[in-house]
Amino acid sequence: MLGKSCPAGYKKARKGTGRVDLQAIVDDIAAAIAAQTDRGAVATYIPGLAKVDPQRFGIAIATADGAMLTSGDASAPFSIQSISKVFALTLALGKVGDQLWERVGREPSGTAFNSIVQLEAEKGIPRNPFINAGAIVVADVNLGAHQPREAIGEMLQFLRYLAEDDSVHIDEDIARGEQDTGFRNLALGNYMRAFGNLRHAVDLTLGVYFHQCAIAMSCVQLARAGRFLMFDGRLPGGSRVVSPARARRINALMLTCGHYDASGDFAFRVGMPGKSGVGGGILAVVPGRASIAVWSPGLNANGNSTLGTMALQMLAEATGWSIFQPHE
Ligand code: GLN
Repeated sequence: MLGKSCPAGYKKARKGTGRVDLQAIVDDIAAAIAAQTDRGAVATYIPGLAKVDPQRFGIAIATADGAMLTSGDASAPFSIQSISKVFALTLALGKVGDQLWERVGREPSGTAFNSIVQLEAEKGIPRNPFINAGAIVVADVNLGAHQPREAIGEMLQFLRYLAEDDSVHIDEDIARGEQDTGFRNLALGNYMRAFGNLRHAVDLTLGVYFHQCAIAMSCVQLARAGRFLMFDGRLPGGSRVVSPARARRINALMLTCGHYDASGDFAFRVGMPGKSGVGGGILAVVPGRASIAVWSPGLNANGNSTLGTMALQMLAEATGWSIFQPHE
């Protein structure tokens, strides 16, 4: 997928008036994606994900003026997987603030999402909160003084609140599958525990982590849940979720670390803070303009959605939305 160019034709939706017809762009993107034959490969290491149809595609855009534009399977729930790490990080920062950075770094890892290699040299301190090791430390913070069930419930409530939708739920089949096959994550947890960087029993912390990854949401729900990151930490109605500084920093981490060792390529091609998951979803934020979710289950070699990335690249090119392009 690296360097693969976008299909031609999607730019035709731009109107001569200077205003872009966003619905036409979104429909054109969905049509272009439907025509792609190289769709990547669905994740098979989590049993439930192996059953997902690679033909599915959804896109939802929550715009700053309150519109929601959708195309394809935008209302179909899918496993958000590592996209949950953005919301888990938001909760953990709310609990312990900058103390979190004593236990997790803020640098791109340049390694795979489930890599263990840096942990030994860096004494059990993961490079960033979006690789698995970092997200497991974040889950340990969120577990805090709770029972795992309470910590998972808090995460679910947070997502229901942000998405304004109580139907957001945990796919128990996916959670069980992760628990049964998550040997690498157990290894990461045990290794960090040996360095004193996990405070709870590894199986309890991983219980929280696996369940947050198994949350099922649609593109529409995810795009809504990401709105506070386009509005400097506030919801459209004005309620504050995080401070402006915190929202900027979460966006910065999404840009630099949200796609693992393909984060540079994602910034180069799309130019938006983004977070991927092995369920094939990507949440992307254009500060001041839009919160976007795409879903296409086939993954590239880095474990990021092949066609989800392509769809966002097409959107960026057709709209000019990028944090590297001036906002008219
Ligand atoms: N639950 C998955 C895992 O731990 C999340 C990975 C991902 O989405 N990149 O392997």
